[in-house]
Amino acid sequence: MALGEFDLIAKFFKRPVRRAALGVGDDCALLNVAPGMQLAVSSDMLVEGRHFLSTVAPARLGHKALAVNLSDLAACGARPLAFTLALSLPRADEAFLEGLASGLFALAEEHGIELVGGDTTAGPLNLCITVFGEVPAGQALLRSGARAGDDLWVSHPLGGGIGDARLALEVFRGRLTLDGRDFENVRHAMEQPRPRVALGQALRGLAHSAIDVSDGLLGDLGHVLRGSQLGARVDADALPRSAVLAAQPRALQLECGLAGGDDYELLFSAPPARREAVRAAAHAAGVGVARIGELQAEPGLRLVDGYGVPLQAEFASFDHFRSA
Ligand code: ADP
Ligand code: MG
Repeated sequence: MALGEFDLIAKFFKRPVRRAALGVGDDCALLNVAPGMQLAVSSDMLVEGRHFLSTVAPARLGHKALAVNLSDLAACGARPLAFTLALSLPRADEAFLEGLASGLFALAEEHGIELVGGDTTAGPLNLCITVFGEVPAGQALLRSGARAGDDLWVSHPLGGGIGDARLALEVFRGRLTLDGRDFENVRHAMEQPRPRVALGQALRGLAHSAIDVSDGLLGDLGHVLRGSQLGARVDADALPRSAVLAAQPRALQLECGLAGGDDYELLFSAPPARREAVRAAAHAAGVGVARIGELQAEPGLRLVDGYGVPLQAEFASFDHFRSA
């Protein structure tokens, strides 16, 4: 690389740390762990061509790389502390790095967290972030905690819904076109997800289970059903949808909303007696929540419309999301 590895790290990624005991520059970073807390750790890798398009603005890429990781901490109810960045780059393109770092650090600042280390190598464009968070011991939200009778909830942007990221992808794939403003809105959902960190923490002690929607709502629900050994009824018509998605044919709405992925919303379950508390937690976190179904003792997924009529026949391809 034209700019040497260490110069590159010093120029773009070394920032003074505030909370960590030691940041970038030594063999290890050192984090202080408060007594009574557990460290929550998660990694997510973004590979060019697979997880993002080569045309994405570098700042948006930086944002998304961190956002998808923070989303995992959110799903556990953890408070983010710090992160590391392993970066593989074809060349030391300073404009690219400048943009990447700006998007990354803007989101990091928003959550009060710091970059404490990483690795840098020449190679195909690939970003792997590991986030570290803390959660009071024994209180993390898990996929395995759901109980029969729980309400099933999904978060969404205020005034928006889920499935927009997938709709944007379909536009990029040439399957449909959208007006300029509508396209910008769904593209924003795809490139700039907002990790639900405040909601995740507010759900501790309230939700029985949680997962973030990264691979599609029904697929991710399948992980909860398997983890908790339960089944579920999902009301497809209760899915929160943005105005842009709601203007699409119903089959496309359901495909994007139920199987889309890249939403980074929280899918969680809580007892019906706590509905008001769930709504209050969402309100305080500045996000919407929609009740989309119920967890049931009988294994399997029962997808119904707003009248309770089964949709299985229409969406046979979702069958493999069964928990059994
Ligand atoms: P080592 O050879 O001991 O693994 P490196 O030479 O790879 O260390 O890295 C030097 C320092 O720079 C380490 O503290 C490492 O954590 C940090 N670092 C390397 N790449 C990055 C990066 N992309 N972002 C942040 N810190 C980095
Ligand atoms: Mg190294």
